[in-house]
Amino acid sequence: MSKYWSPKVHALTPYVPGEQPAAGTVIKLNTNENPYGPSPAALAAIHEAASDDLRLYPDPESTALRSALAEFHGLQSDQVFVGNGSDEVLAHVFNGLLNHGAPVLFPDITYSFYPVYCMLYDIASEKIPLRDDFAIALADYERTNGGIIFPNPNAPTGRALALDEIASLLRSAPDSVVVVDEAYTAFGADSAVALIDEYDNLLVIQTLSKSHGLAGLRVGCAFGNADLIDGLIRVKNSFNSYPLDRLAIAGAVAAVADRDYYDMTRAKVMASRERLRAALGQLQFTVLPSSANFLFVQHPEHAAGEIAGALRERNIIVRHFDHPRTKDYLRITIGTDAELDSLIEALGAIVG
Ligand SMILES: *Cc1c(COP(=O)(O)O)cnc(C)c1O
Repeated sequence: MSKYWSPKVHALTPYVPGEQPAAGTVIKLNTNENPYGPSPAALAAIHEAASDDLRLYPDPESTALRSALAEFHGLQSDQVFVGNGSDEVLAHVFNGLLNHGAPVLFPDITYSFYPVYCMLYDIASEKIPLRDDFAIALADYERTNGGIIFPNPNAPTGRALALDEIASLLRSAPDSVVVVDEAYTAFGADSAVALIDEYDNLLVIQTLSKSHGLAGLRVGCAFGNADLIDGLIRVKNSFNSYPLDRLAIAGAVAAVADRDYYDMTRAKVMASRERLRAALGQLQFTVLPSSANFLFVQHPEHAAGEIAGALRERNIIVRHFDHPRTKDYLRITIGTDAELDSLIEALGAIVG
């Protein structure tokens, strides 16, 4: 607390990121990072970009990266926006596209950064409860709103919506921007990018953090109608003209171009997820359906907080959220098979 803070700063409740322990022997299954790391081609490109050219500002429009992403998705470059992680892209989306007076709608259980941006930018919001089975009920979003945002698959549940459900919401809300946050779509959900040419009110957010093993590089993107993208560019150029540095642009271009590595690593994550699901079932856990790189699980006899504490004593970190509706659950990131074997062995000792 300081008298020098503005009233706004006093009123903020900042987002709390998952723990990042100092490198060591912990098995880190708490923040949905990709266990396989970036493509070797991306690392080579970053090394090459670490040159005397760093004295020069980067391309403010990130032209090379926007065109690599456009090519990947079959879009035009003017349908692509990039930023310093999708968290920054989301900040510009809330500020520039969801700030219309009427409340922005999002699920009661979802990515906890959304209410933080609403507070930062003075945006009214309304939380729409998930169904009892933790599915998003899109029919409940057909009410007055200043925009709609949800992750698909949702976080931290992992449940995904089908594209026809999203298309029907887009038709029912032609005057609202509908933002689909696809941080985890690479692990098994259908991408709404396929709907962009048909719906000018759709904005899709993605990130290289999880899908491409590049959380440390901070590269996020948005895809949509060129007018929506133009709005985001106006906000970006009123905030920071150079959100992506030279290393990030070079690494991201190479990562996006290496489709084989992306397909190989996400297939491995999805296979490990199903193997972990089966093993957790053997240990009597209830496991929600997941199209993401994590599982949301509950045990009928052991409190989630206690399991998380016992895992930590064994140097394994998972995420426990203290929300009334989710306090009985743990969110477990899909690691390597060796990491998951250690997890399964530890859980066997704890609940078995
Ligand atoms: C991880 C995550 C983000 C943020 O990703 P960055 O690009 O690393 O900032 C955004 N939305 C959801 C739902 C996420 O899980």
